Amino acid sequence: MLIVKKFGGTSVANKERIFHVAKRCIKDYREGHDVIVVLSAMGKYTDELVDMARDVNPRPPKREMDMLFTIGEQMSVALMAMAMNALGVSAISLNAFQVAMHTTSSYGNARIKRIDSDRIRHELDQRKIVLITGFQGINKYDDYTTLGRGGSDTTAVALAAALHADECQIYTDVDGIYTADPRVVKKARKLSEITYDEMLDLATLGAGVLHNRSVEMAKKYGVQLVVRSSLTEEEGTIVKEDAKMERMLVSGVAADKNTARISVVGLIDKPGTAFALFDILAKANINVDMILQSVGRNQTKDISFTVSNDSAADALNVIEKNKKRLNPEHVECERNVAKVSVVGAGMMSNPGVAAKMFECLFNSNINIKMISTSEIRVTVLIDEKDTEKAMNAAHDAFGLED
Ligand code: ASP
Ligand code: MG
Repeated sequence: MLIVKKFGGTSVANKERIFHVAKRCIKDYREGHDVIVVLSAMGKYTDELVDMARDVNPRPPKREMDMLFTIGEQMSVALMAMAMNALGVSAISLNAFQVAMHTTSSYGNARIKRIDSDRIRHELDQRKIVLITGFQGINKYDDYTTLGRGGSDTTAVALAAALHADECQIYTDVDGIYTADPRVVKKARKLSEITYDEMLDLATLGAGVLHNRSVEMAKKYGVQLVVRSSLTEEEGTIVKEDAKMERMLVSGVAADKNTARISVVGLIDKPGTAFALFDILAKANINVDMILQSVGRNQTKDISFTVSNDSAADALNVIEKNKKRLNPEHVECERNVAKVSVVGAGMMSNPGVAAKMFECLFNSNINIKMISTSEIRVTVLIDEKDTEKAMNAAHDAFGLED
């Protein structure tokens, strides 16, 4: 078998953990498998690099930022190769250049285009464990790029796809995907399986276990993922196309507090108003999530939408700058709001999920400010202070506990 194993920063944070990971990989290797290991930078090293850079220049050039970032992952793979070597196993570390991990040009947010597999195959054929830097690539200018924070997951999936690996295991500091954040919902339960689509919704909604793009890529290339803990031997969660499980209506509850609601009140009710507003926001590169339009008084309408907290100021700014074009009566911004969602492929063929969600919030006396739905998700916007209560209520209502 060819196995790709990815370990995050906490899993390689110090010497003990490095050896722990080394032994885990060697076990597979000794069973006769080909083993590729993708590593992130040790502990919070990438954050430290950000601090160092900002200390020198508050707005560092993106190219140089990527140049700096790449040393973090390079340090991990080199030390891991040394650890394996000390344990009597031959291993070799490769960075994005040596592999030739080709990406698009955009620094800080590059996408993988193509991976040369020759060098990796050659090293595997020599019976070496191959250690590869996560998160980084090279572009057509022969410059280093990075895939965006948390991007090592995507490196691992891309390698698994390119080399047709039999397994892609993502090791992290949690032991799998839960029905809700166990720190918030005490009754949360680990899922044995979940679909790509559910995982994507949960990831976007702040579950934060896997890099979003890694899940997108896994879905696209049919790479089955296993998410498990690097610290325990517990079985993890399998992420795949069609999770069979006892098809529950809902698989998980997620919350995102990094949300603000902006209401543009008293817009003229004529064609093109919504276009004007969202065109302005799009051109300013502001991601809009939920949208609600409602009828106002005297041929006016109100449009509310949500953005992440950090882009709220920018959104207000561009709206203010385009006051003439939009001509609203006034604009409001509410930051103490949160999105709470229930996600489940099982709701596709079952009506009544939204009603049940609203009912449980009503029973907990929680007011809903906005609603949005997809085939497999119901999201409500509520007061931030009600987040934990809402998550627990939904978790109970949909019977997600053991
Ligand atoms: N070291 C990078 C980061 O902290 C990439 C990763 O961990 O996946 O974002
Ligand atoms: Mg991560």
